[in-house]
Amino acid sequence: MKISPKSFDKIEDEILYLKKEKNAVILAHYYQHEEIQDIADFIGDSLDLSKKAQQTDADIIVFCGVRFMAEVAKILSPQKTVILPDINAGCSLEESCPPNLFKAFKKKYPDHIVLSYINCSAEIKALSDVIVTSSNAAKIINTFPKNKKIIFAPDRHLGNYLNKITGRNMILWNGACIVHETFSEKELIKLKVRNENAKIIAHPECPENILNYADFIGSTSALLKFTSDDDTQKFIVATEPHIIHQMKKNQPTKEFLVAPGNDGSCSCSNCPYMELNTLEKLRNCLLEVTPKINIDNKLILKAKKPLIEMLKLS
Ligand code: SF4
Repeated sequence: MKISPKSFDKIEDEILYLKKEKNAVILAHYYQHEEIQDIADFIGDSLDLSKKAQQTDADIIVFCGVRFMAEVAKILSPQKTVILPDINAGCSLEESCPPNLFKAFKKKYPDHIVLSYINCSAEIKALSDVIVTSSNAAKIINTFPKNKKIIFAPDRHLGNYLNKITGRNMILWNGACIVHETFSEKELIKLKVRNENAKIIAHPECPENILNYADFIGSTSALLKFTSDDDTQKFIVATEPHIIHQMKKNQPTKEFLVAPGNDGSCSCSNCPYMELNTLEKLRNCLLEVTPKINIDNKLILKAKKPLIEMLKLS
């Protein structure tokens, strides 16, 4: 490993020095460790972060999140170098939709258009007509006539929720996120009984049996906003628990409880992929400008098309 040109007492100071020296911008997803969120230039959800990075004059984008998110940053800013603290930071939802199987699946429905949730690989994006996020999916679906035949990939829970709220019958790819599938209905009910006045807020990647109890369902940004706007003093949060760091920062007097898993504890709902990124790895990737996200130019062009389509429709 290369040695930093200067010595620092704190790793945070070294990261800030390297960031300036390399003209880099640091992005952190809401699901990152607290100390990474605290050092980032921008904190947000995946699309919002990539759009913000696109608008900066930084030469390097450090994406503290998972690989598909860094790929979106590269697709939107192909001239910039995009690095990820840990290249193994994948995503169970992305992995649940292998491109070769999806290609064969798509062939069975030649008269359908493909809407894909942004949590998928660049290859799946390239096989899609429009990309959606959990914030804009319903709005985009509603721009199509009711009889439009649609395949939705890769998250079956989000797809099921969208079918319900838009009155559609989209064909769903059978993918899921391991984090949002770990919440236990039985334990959630127990927690709610002990905290009668708390409101349950949930991400639509959760299965229906969890969403049925939610007072509010929304994207990470929408959940964060709701906890600020709503007068409730206590919330039970059914999404990756690192988001609570920003909720507490915005509303220090309010209480936030993590929706429990089967054993009644909360740590099982931490995203194991997001947790791979650490301050040390962030420092190392800035110092060595690696690991880089490299995507073939042809694939960038194909994957960019449905992303642009989304920006037009949302
Ligand atoms: S929380 Fe789920 S969807 Fe998000 S990165 Fe982790 S595994 Fe993927």
